[in-house]
Amino acid sequence: MNHPPTHAKVLEGDAAFPRVARRAGQRTIPVSFGGVLIGGRGFAVIAGPCSVEGPEQIHTAASEVARRGADVLRGGAFKPRTSPYSFQGLGLEGLAMMREAADAHGLPLVTEVLTPERVEAMAPQVDAFQVGARNMHNTALLHALGATERPILLKRGFGSTLTEWLLAAEHIASAGNERIVLCERGIRAFGTETRFTLDLAGALWAQDQSHLPVIVDPSHAIGQPSLIPRAAAAVLAAGLDGLMVEVHPSPEEALSDGAQALTLDRFEAMMRDLKTLDARRPLIAWGERSEEGGRG
Ligand code: PEP
Ligand code: MN
Repeated sequence: MNHPPTHAKVLEGDAAFPRVARRAGQRTIPVSFGGVLIGGRGFAVIAGPCSVEGPEQIHTAASEVARRGADVLRGGAFKPRTSPYSFQGLGLEGLAMMREAADAHGLPLVTEVLTPERVEAMAPQVDAFQVGARNMHNTALLHALGATERPILLKRGFGSTLTEWLLAAEHIASAGNERIVLCERGIRAFGTETRFTLDLAGALWAQDQSHLPVIVDPSHAIGQPSLIPRAAAAVLAAGLDGLMVEVHPSPEEALSDGAQALTLDRFEAMMRDLKTLDARRPLIAWGERSEEGGRG
């Protein structure tokens, strides 16, 4: 299952990550998550609960986020928890529940895979695999995902440099899969007032350096629902390719990350604001800007 890219010759040029590097004048290469294009002209919104908790919860979440304009359903069935005593997810059963909910409401789904051994069993059920922050350096997992046809949402490790993040993408690409979307989700800095530190400039750097679409997860980066919609607006205004946010029908009952989950009302208000802002997006989106944009 693992495909260490011993076959992968370093390509021409001097980029450290030649397969994912943006060449001069090159546009972002969009990636499709089950028919939803990320990195095209639109702004993609991935929304859903942190974890799949049961059939009813995931059905309600899917239906409610779809109704409010989400493009893709998120939800973890295999959870990488900081404590071994926290909820670890419902596993393959949870994934089956999520598949059903996503189909019932016409959304593609993205969900995290923790180990290379699970890739094959999960692949038929997912539209895209998520690599979590804690696994960004797991090269065995990256190589296994390089061998699938499924697109990958690659989160940045919270202690990783931007170059390490793009090299993790290069690991997947060099093993055969270039359908990768980068996701900035906050890094560790010295402050404790927000959960992590949202590195918006880092996301822009990644967008300059790579042809891969770049999205931002302000939920894990910030951890406070009242701040997340404004950060989301900044992500859209900056010309990035999309968002991932945690939304829960009843956050106080959530089995993981309840404190940072957007309520349905807050998600609805956020989507309304983004829509207003999106009307101006053609002016600021990547590739539509003036020559001095500094790309390529
Ligand atoms: C998640 O998306 O629920 C998650 C665990 O995110 P991260 O890997 O960014 O912590
Ligand atoms: Mn979470």
